Amino acid sequence: MNQPRRIETKTCPRCGGSGEYSYCQAYGTRCFKCHGRKVVLTRRGEQANAYLIRLRSRTLAEIRPGMLVFDEPGPFTKGGFKLVLGISELKEVGKFKSGGDTEWTTRYGHDLDLEGMRLGGLNMDTVKRVGHTALGKAETLRLALDFQDRLTKTGSLRKDAGTFPTAEEQLATADTAGWLVEQGAKQ
Ligand SMILES: [Zn+2]
Repeated sequence: MNQPRRIETKTCPRCGGSGEYSYCQAYGTRCFKCHGRKVVLTRRGEQANAYLIRLRSRTLAEIRPGMLVFDEPGPFTKGGFKLVLGISELKEVGKFKSGGDTEWTTRYGHDLDLEGMRLGGLNMDTVKRVGHTALGKAETLRLALDFQDRLTKTGSLRKDAGTFPTAEEQLATADTAGWLVEQGAKQ
């Protein structure tokens, strides 16, 4: 049988793979360990998934208008990919005084303007998940699965696997042309 290669999961130990659990007011009958997905990542899968997410992320310095940035879901928001409208010049975020400081320290940051929302006080090395094309998704998944193949059950790099590039190193050396969604990009 030729199973497609994928990030490793196992049957959810809480709900036994039904996706449901005893009723509670906040979640209904949905299992909140697997969020109704019936499976959870193994420890090896967790590492490979983190690697994949880093491959699919960029620092604020690398993010441009027209890209899509992932807004993490919160308690009151659904989250999802949002269009980048712009990144502000460095500006004052606020003044802070901590511990035994006698002087106020001014902190600076950037705002990331997304369609319908603004994320404030970010640094240029803040990392955000960005929208990928089908090509970009396939290539990043392939690299993450190559990484997963070299991991032990507990998620550390196998001793006989030699060295393997970090996600950052992969991004620095891979041909990433055509990986990112860039709306209205001028060539
Ligand atoms: Zn579950």
